Amino acid sequence: MKSNSAHFDVAVIGGGAIGLSCAWQLAARGARVVIFDRLQAGREASYAAGGMLAPACEAAAHPWNCSPQAREEMLSFCFDSRDSYPDFAARLGQETGIDIELSLRAAATGDWRETGILFVPKTEKDSRLDALLEHGLAAAWRGKTAVFLPDDGQVESRKVVDALRAAAKLSGVEIRENCQIRRLKIENGRAVGIDDDKDTVRAERVLLCAGAWSGKIAGVPPEIAGSLRPVAGQMVQVRGERRVRHVIYSDACYLVPRRDGRLLIGATVEENGFQKRVTAGGVAKLLTAACELVPELSDAPLEAHWAGLRPTTGDGLPLLGATSVENLFVATGHGRNGILLAPATARAICALLLDGKAVSEAFSPARFGGE
Ligand SMILES: Cc1cc2nc3c(=O)[nH]c(=O)nc-3n(C[C@H](O)[C@H](O)[C@H](O)COP(=O)(O)OP(=O)(O)OC[C@H]3O[C@@H](n4cnc5c(N)ncnc54)[C@H](O)[C@@H]3O)c2cc1C
Repeated sequence: MKSNSAHFDVAVIGGGAIGLSCAWQLAARGARVVIFDRLQAGREASYAAGGMLAPACEAAAHPWNCSPQAREEMLSFCFDSRDSYPDFAARLGQETGIDIELSLRAAATGDWRETGILFVPKTEKDSRLDALLEHGLAAAWRGKTAVFLPDDGQVESRKVVDALRAAAKLSGVEIRENCQIRRLKIENGRAVGIDDDKDTVRAERVLLCAGAWSGKIAGVPPEIAGSLRPVAGQMVQVRGERRVRHVIYSDACYLVPRRDGRLLIGATVEENGFQKRVTAGGVAKLLTAACELVPELSDAPLEAHWAGLRPTTGDGLPLLGATSVENLFVATGHGRNGILLAPATARAICALLLDGKAVSEAFSPARFGGE
């Protein structure tokens, strides 16, 4: 195997929303960064996502399995990331010319959609309503009790990924696509680079952002390999035109209207290993739930369907920070919230790698073992 003469400050494995946003921010601060993706960057979970910026709904509907203190840290990480989106979107727009279609009260864009998310529980006695009301307003939806979360919203996740890829490139990141990393290059217990099919590439630090696949690379320590699992989600797209004006979130499905009239209906939650498929049952379940919520959708033309794998940890919190292998760092495990958390994750990783500022213990891979 030949050794590539280029030497980088950071080699990033995985070019999804997380790897790309970290690479972009690191390069913007002067680091020499290379990023590897085994496909075209951004075409896995980040491309499948609904793009909701929905911290309160997510915390209520899919509670994290962690201590109350870790929950508070995760919530504030989520809110902080959501609140960074106006600036994140503006920078991406200025640098790349790509509009990520942010729909958030704090960044009024003037399109036909309304900002905010409406949470519609199964019953009005739902015990989660109190927690949601801390962040929202009591509302009614077609005669049902609901909570309106005015500060939540959405982005077009595919445009986020495209803009991040362009911004990373413009900042000097070397993007190597169709390039699968098979193993970490470890010498004397320290990560010194990576091996792909053809080359060894040396770097001062390696940042692992390979999403659900992060544990499959040889040399990845057990606290990462053993703590991550893929959770599949199927999604359906119909032509909603303007029948739904803001995100609606229920236990059975969520509806996300895109600016151009597409309406995304998501998403199933399935544990089938690395199988990523769209099934008749999955699509039927989503369409039935959507039509129960908004009966007018029953004649909406069906346009597309897809599936993705959410990189998920045992407690539902991300894996961020140093690992038990010196100079190997990780940013993955964002589960259902990786689009939401991309800005705050990039900030935390830059602060760690460039300023030596530790990431919250709540997200440390050490909670799953290691040194
Ligand atoms: C159906 C669905 C709906 C979702 N909705 C939302 C939502 O509304 N809001 C939200 O915030 N989040 C949502 N999510 C979650 C979000 O999509 C993920 O948390 C996020 O995309 C994870 O980003 P990532 O960069 O870690 O992973 P990915 O986007 O999966 O990127 C990982 C990358 O690593 C590459 N890779 C893997 N192995 C290797 C290797 N050996 N060598 C080189 N490259 C490799 C892959 O090709 C891939 O591009 C949703 C997810 C799904 C599936």
